[in-house]
Amino acid sequence: MGKQKYIFVTGGVLSGVGKGITAASIGTVLRAKGATVSIQKCDPYLNVDAGLLNPREHGECFVTKDGAETDLDLGHYERFLDIEMTQKNATLSGRLLSQLIADERAGKFCGKTVQLVPHLTQAIQRSIIEAAGDSGIHIVEIGGTVGDYESLSYIEAIRLFSQIVGRANCLFVHVVYVPFIGTSKEFKTKPAQNALNDLRGFGIVPDVIIVRTDKPAPAEVVDKISLFSGVPKCGVLLMPNADTVYRVPLIIARSGLNRLLSDFTGLQNEPDLSAWDKIVKHQTSRSKKVVKVGMVAKYIDNEDTYISVIEALKSAAWHENVGIDITWINAETADKKDFKNVDAILVPGGFGSRGIEGKIAAARYALDHDKPYLGLCLGLQVAVIAAARKAGLDDANSAEFNPETKNDVVYIMDGQAGKESTGGTLRLGDYPAKLVKGSLAAKVYHSVDIVERHRHRYEVNQKFLPQIIKGGLSVSGTSPDDKLVEFVEAPKNKYFIATQAHPEFQSRPTRPHPLFVGLIKACLYKVK
Ligand code: GLN
Repeated sequence: MGKQKYIFVTGGVLSGVGKGITAASIGTVLRAKGATVSIQKCDPYLNVDAGLLNPREHGECFVTKDGAETDLDLGHYERFLDIEMTQKNATLSGRLLSQLIADERAGKFCGKTVQLVPHLTQAIQRSIIEAAGDSGIHIVEIGGTVGDYESLSYIEAIRLFSQIVGRANCLFVHVVYVPFIGTSKEFKTKPAQNALNDLRGFGIVPDVIIVRTDKPAPAEVVDKISLFSGVPKCGVLLMPNADTVYRVPLIIARSGLNRLLSDFTGLQNEPDLSAWDKIVKHQTSRSKKVVKVGMVAKYIDNEDTYISVIEALKSAAWHENVGIDITWINAETADKKDFKNVDAILVPGGFGSRGIEGKIAAARYALDHDKPYLGLCLGLQVAVIAAARKAGLDDANSAEFNPETKNDVVYIMDGQAGKESTGGTLRLGDYPAKLVKGSLAAKVYHSVDIVERHRHRYEVNQKFLPQIIKGGLSVSGTSPDDKLVEFVEAPKNKYFIATQAHPEFQSRPTRPHPLFVGLIKACLYKVK
């Protein structure tokens, strides 16, 4: 393959119809053909990163190994492409604009007027070149919908970019939504047509149109969209909702898009997607045994908030050949019945005091009833609070939830005090931990030296270790300098383990994370 190629994925009609999955799936197919693929998300928001975005509205904040707080699409990219993302794979307008303004203040523009075109558009183009590195194919997903005020600079930037690198080296993919109108029982292509007109109005005629529908649509939909957009029928792909997102690469590989991708890249070989075939088979086959995991959380109405945790649980269940039933337990109303009713309890990460007593009660229940428990970040902190209370420190708490308590078994890390409500002051990204030989953690990981991603401000206050241990926990992993508690477990329980990290970010559908596999196994038989 000669020159570097670029694939731009844009969206029309409305957002949230699967541009991220589409971009990741195209990358998966190309990788399976042997290409080196890189991928980047451009978010037109004026935010500098995703750290302060409300997870209920925007979904999970995905943390990369270098500590970037990013959009959940980067999680899809990592799971589909099995490559680790960094800050350069997440471009936000706020980040580019703050740099531009800083440069303006520093006099770097030598008296020139600073403008969206060409200065912001050039900054976008530079970010694309940087993220592309030396990969053979670079995929750029533009967030939002074409026509949004915020995204105009991006659309203009990629249009110009295609002129610079040569139109033949760029493939424009537009994802549109076609609604089905129940009353007249027909699919309506008008919004998609309008969206395609919008894109054309900005100077881009796409090469590929992905037509998202809720259920399978007839071929006339392709005819109509092709007719009105000027895109040949072979470039229009119907993509009804799939039973699992991991089927999307398989659908693409078996569609006309495969041919287009082969011609575009020059890679004529068939993609080897056998691993994905296996995942889809596992996920869609009905297992006799189903493991019921209770997720104790406060955002129970938006699964995207915990998407990496959910994906990690599902992958672990396929790995063990069992079905999974993820039961949402509302942390604000949770009681013993809810905990009793499930095979295992998982307390995921979180910030703020809402629902915290329910989470502490969940950890306490698991501790007392030998219920398999996995605590992730906040899930470790509530376990420590539960153990300290069990040992008699009735008002044990985290300084995050009760700044007044004398028994702050979880407290603010050095240098973080006073910054509780600001972004960018967390302990973020990859940190190593050493595990205690012979501990459950070391057994599960098959190693004593591990690295996990982090996103937290508070840590275990080791002054209270005697009480925490008396309450039934032991420290099974620390930072290499022993200063920070990274893992705790309950030696008397069959599987009670909690980490200060976010292992879900490193889990892959093809390689589920051992802590999640351990949880599922513990529901099936004793792990030790
Ligand atoms: N709120 C806790 C802290 O800042 C836990 C964070 C998390 O679960 N990601 O330490």
